[in-house]
Amino acid sequence: MKFTAEHEALRKTVRDFVQKEINPHCDEWEEAGQFPIHELFKKMGDLGLLGIQKPEEYGGMGLDYSYNLVAAEELGMAHCGGVPLAIGVQTDMCTPAISRFGSDELKRTFLAPAIAGDMVGCIGVSEVGAGSDVAGLKTNAKKDGDDYIINGSKMWITNSPQADFICLLANTSDDKPHKNKSLIVVPMNSPGITFSPHLNKLGMRSSETAQIFFDDVRVPQRYRIGAEATGFMMQMLQFQEERLWGAANVIKALENCIDQTIEYCRERKTFGTPLIDNQVIHFRLAELQTEVEALRALTYQACELHVEGKDVTKLASMAKLKAGRLGREVTDSCLQYWGGNGFMWDNPASRAFRDVRLVSIGGGADEIMLGIICKLMGTLPGKRKSRT
Ligand SMILES: Cc1cc2nc3c(=O)[nH]c(=O)nc-3n(C[C@H](O)[C@H](O)[C@H](O)COP(=O)(O)OP(=O)(O)OC[C@H]3O[C@@H](n4cnc5c(N)ncnc54)[C@H](O)[C@@H]3O)c2cc1C
Repeated sequence: MKFTAEHEALRKTVRDFVQKEINPHCDEWEEAGQFPIHELFKKMGDLGLLGIQKPEEYGGMGLDYSYNLVAAEELGMAHCGGVPLAIGVQTDMCTPAISRFGSDELKRTFLAPAIAGDMVGCIGVSEVGAGSDVAGLKTNAKKDGDDYIINGSKMWITNSPQADFICLLANTSDDKPHKNKSLIVVPMNSPGITFSPHLNKLGMRSSETAQIFFDDVRVPQRYRIGAEATGFMMQMLQFQEERLWGAANVIKALENCIDQTIEYCRERKTFGTPLIDNQVIHFRLAELQTEVEALRALTYQACELHVEGKDVTKLASMAKLKAGRLGREVTDSCLQYWGGNGFMWDNPASRAFRDVRLVSIGGGADEIMLGIICKLMGTLPGKRKSRT
């Protein structure tokens, strides 16, 4: 990756924003289990940070994905994972398909306000019975005149309690599971939408998560993104950017955790010696920092090829897998070196440990990434070879 002065200027804008608008409030928002999402997104929209890669015609900056990557990486400097997650949902999870395949009406009605920070979006794929197995989801949208009538529910939906729209993956026919899905934009104030109470999470406490129920929810068919039955393909494409974003966002969060741990280990003495002077500790932290650099290199390579228009399914899956696995390793080791303090709820290593744990689960679990990588390596056993 060759970063230009423009990349660096954007990096500084995001860094300043995190320092001024997010970090002073993280503790309070984590405690509250939410943050003023409309207010914060409006401030980001005013700076152009919600539409970095989106078309200028709809208020975006019209830049390539490498700029998105820089912003995702810099958001990792936040002192909690929940707020960056909410931002990532808006920029890289619920809007890429609208931007790429949506009609002009959809872009004006939902994309432009999302870029401006006037609307909050969420992405509805997972269901109680279908998380990893996206093809098995049951929420359906049946045609009625010019409308769809939607029934079903979506589980663990980030941003949903305050969202203005959802980019919803639903079955629009009884065809085969990969050929019967469409992405539909549904206004969240539509009659028939209800929510569970906020879900009580291990980490990412400042982001809001709920289950959503759809009971005869009517939306015009023109709110469908692209052609009918292409939803699965569009969502798989949308997942590429979600996974790259997830990997990039972890890099600085992990470096931060290592840096804070080094600082603590310099201060903390056992047996009259600073903890950091134990070779087992400074070697381990050096090893982890090396691994973070390797994650950075992998993520940058995937990003570079994505910008060139290449299919990065394999590399993006590898980056997401590595980010999840390494995130667990780094935060677990760091927490260990904080000792009893690390076991306290508000400790930075403890918060990182809880927040980063999501990376191995959300947006496709580690095992799903391994399955994709194996498929592309040609090592996934075919059905005939399978034991079942
Ligand atoms: C905080 C949070 C926020 C989220 N936000 C959103 C959101 O905004 N929108 C959305 O749509 N979803 C969201 N999700 C859902 C998330 O994407 C799913 O939880 C995830 O895809 C895993 O699905 P599941 O929980 O149903 O796990 P399951 O599919 O039940 O799998 C359980 C575990 O089994 C293993 N596993 C699964 N399949 C295989 C296999 N084939 N081989 C080997 N092992 C396997 C994996 O370890 C996996 O973690 C969120 C989840 C959380 C926790």
